[in-house]
Amino acid sequence: MKFNTKTIHGGQQHDPAYGSVVPPIYQTSTYAQSTPGGHKGYEYSRTHNPTRNALESALASIENGNYGLAFGSGLSAIDAVLKLLKPGDEVVSTNDLYGGTYRLFTKIYEDFGIKFHFIGMENSNKIEAYITPDTKLIWVETPTNPMMNIIDIVAISKIAKKHNVLLAVDNTFATPYLQRPLDLGADIVMHSATKYLGGHSDVVMGALIVENKDLAERLYFIQNASGAICGPQDSFLVLRGIKTLHIRMQRHCENGRVVAEYLSNHPKIENVYWPGFKNHPNHHIAVSQMDDFGGMVSFTTKGNNYDKAIKIVENLKIFTLAESLGGVESLAGHPASMTHASIPKEEREKTGVVDSLIRLSVGIEDIDDLIADLKQAII
Ligand SMILES: *Cc1c(COP(=O)(O)O)cnc(C)c1O
Repeated sequence: MKFNTKTIHGGQQHDPAYGSVVPPIYQTSTYAQSTPGGHKGYEYSRTHNPTRNALESALASIENGNYGLAFGSGLSAIDAVLKLLKPGDEVVSTNDLYGGTYRLFTKIYEDFGIKFHFIGMENSNKIEAYITPDTKLIWVETPTNPMMNIIDIVAISKIAKKHNVLLAVDNTFATPYLQRPLDLGADIVMHSATKYLGGHSDVVMGALIVENKDLAERLYFIQNASGAICGPQDSFLVLRGIKTLHIRMQRHCENGRVVAEYLSNHPKIENVYWPGFKNHPNHHIAVSQMDDFGGMVSFTTKGNNYDKAIKIVENLKIFTLAESLGGVESLAGHPASMTHASIPKEEREKTGVVDSLIRLSVGIEDIDDLIADLKQAII
């Protein structure tokens, strides 16, 4: 089955009860038993729920994995991966990281005795120096948030396999429409399904997808034992979102390209970060592992003025100033004061998150309206 069919049919079956084409929202916590243990495969909705299971099969299908797990948020999905570790274990992670992931690693898991190395992975040769016998996990985001760095998943998966370390890839920005990390050698794919998979800015959810059965069983155990599941209503919404992922992503990519090119020719703009540019440092890797370049574009203004950046995001009328990304509507964010405010200034500036950086999640509106909005806002 091709990707554009999988988003609609992958892992799906008509509901066995009445043949409903769309999986019903099984809004129930528990299931009747005829005799103790006499049930139809469902006992309690933390453990299993038919609507969530339908979504989890769809997730596995679109990422070319065997097992999908859905969680109450992207961070709770990451939290489940970290629970595979124990005190003394080490993690090598990208340094240009979603702020909430950095906070989870440093403010929660460091206290549990896990050691993190945050490094630039644009050059994959640098990674091996940080691998010790205690390293158990490599955590990669690509494209990175918000600098749009590209990391070579195939090269890192080779290093991970050589040292018997798990490789997890946060695929939130690219989605499986553009990039399928399991095919490139990753062990775990993670999503904030809040973003492109849900696609309509109306739900918070996380997901993990894996190929390996033992790993899946360990993660299912954690999902059930820790209980950070998502509800049936949210499962329904994300399942519905996935059905249009391919056509939404196609338009996000088209609009993203036009916005990136417009900004790069604008006299007041200093830098534009978008992996589709030929002079992007890892453009060749983006070309080899992604099918297009997505709808996320970041830029800085000349003079790097904090107040001016705030003014620009306030001026925008169609782009909404808001956290998050990946919905049908265009959003703009100012990482230094919003998503990355929890990262110390020196730390964030090292990775390029300077005061004038603005991140756009280019939506699927008419491109002429988006360009006109940017034109009037950039002062
Ligand atoms: C939003 C986001 C997360 C966190 O997901 P939530 O659903 O907000 O918990 C993790 N990684 C990336 C890249 C994100 O954009």
